[in-house]
Amino acid sequence: MKDVIVIGAGMAGLTCAQQLKQAGIDVTIVEKSAGVGGRMATRRLQGTWVDHGAQLLSVKSDGFGRFIRKLQEKGIVHEWTRNVYQLSASGLLPPEADARHPRYCCSLGMTAIAKYLANEIPIINNTRIIGVSHNDTKWQLVNDRQEVLETSAIISTIPAPQFLPLFEEVLTLAPSFLQAVQSVKFAPSVTIMAGYNTSHSVPLEWQAIKCVNDPILDWISYDSSKHPDKATQPVFVYQSSAEFAKQSMEEPDLEIAGKPLLNQVGRLLAKWLSSPEWWQVHRWRYALAEESLGVSCLSTAIPLALVCAGDWCAGKNIEAAYHSGVAAAESAIELLKA
Ligand SMILES: Cc1cc2nc3c(=O)[nH]c(=O)nc-3n(C[C@H](O)[C@H](O)[C@H](O)COP(=O)(O)OP(=O)(O)OC[C@H]3O[C@@H](n4cnc5c(N)ncnc54)[C@H](O)[C@@H]3O)c2cc1C
Repeated sequence: MKDVIVIGAGMAGLTCAQQLKQAGIDVTIVEKSAGVGGRMATRRLQGTWVDHGAQLLSVKSDGFGRFIRKLQEKGIVHEWTRNVYQLSASGLLPPEADARHPRYCCSLGMTAIAKYLANEIPIINNTRIIGVSHNDTKWQLVNDRQEVLETSAIISTIPAPQFLPLFEEVLTLAPSFLQAVQSVKFAPSVTIMAGYNTSHSVPLEWQAIKCVNDPILDWISYDSSKHPDKATQPVFVYQSSAEFAKQSMEEPDLEIAGKPLLNQVGRLLAKWLSSPEWWQVHRWRYALAEESLGVSCLSTAIPLALVCAGDWCAGKNIEAAYHSGVAAAESAIELLKA
């Protein structure tokens, strides 16, 4: 039996597991995917790395700042840009002076951070938790191979809408905990990764663009500028608005779901951007919380020790997931002492 099982090897789960390990607690992560990182996701394409989830890191708090500096010293993270432009009905505008703060990225893609955090943590990959029950002293987690994992405490770091079907039935005696999770709604996103012929003249003045009030596009990244020494061609990443993603989420053909983003970027920026040499589409059903809870994590001892963590508790980004992971470890340690 494990002291603690963490569900999910994204930023929150990995951070939490590292803290628990340092506190001497026997912790294991169970992760449904083959790799680690969750929405901090990178795809190997055409000999390069393309981030199709989180695009960049920005730093607000001292604690996260110290973590990012450590990653910089280890050569995992570097400053990418201060030039995030805005595209609106007024055209393409450079950032105001107070928006020129550093944004960080990884030469080997954002999953490099997760791989670093995963070091020496026992992780059971390719294993989806599909059921939860308990007796008087232990939780039982059932995975998709119908195996049962027993533990004293669970830390769930999966998006709120994925948590509910697993835990609703076992939390009838913790109604306020359940209500808090039920209040969190997630929005989807469609992402395109696109590579272009080297003959095209690529922008030098911006590395990313936030699209303001566009019905289709939300974000444009000049992804290959994150690692210019390794880039053999220009690669861009386009992320849709939540409204567009809601409409195209159930479209069975991924190319049909993604094509309007390419057409839109061609219309808004440069015609050649609508005709890449290659492109791939990824759909995120649970991309970002529409509103976060405003707490670092949720915990309960009823029926047994359970902590819920993730970006959606404390915010909507990697920094929020990091803080939630730290807070979840502290809560779990308290619950295990009781
Ligand atoms: C398209 C997109 C762009 C973004 N851009 C940025 C950005 O530029 N900057 C930024 O800071 N943030 C960005 N974000 C948000 C950022 O990615 C998240 O805030 C952060 O990665 C969330 O980490 P997490 O650990 O809370 O959750 P997740 O990364 O979602 O981790 C949860 C993990 O749980 C696993 N899991 C789910 N269900 C189960 C189950 N039943 N059993 C086992 N495992 C399970 C999942 O596979 C996943 O690995 C973006 C997100 C998206 C989708």
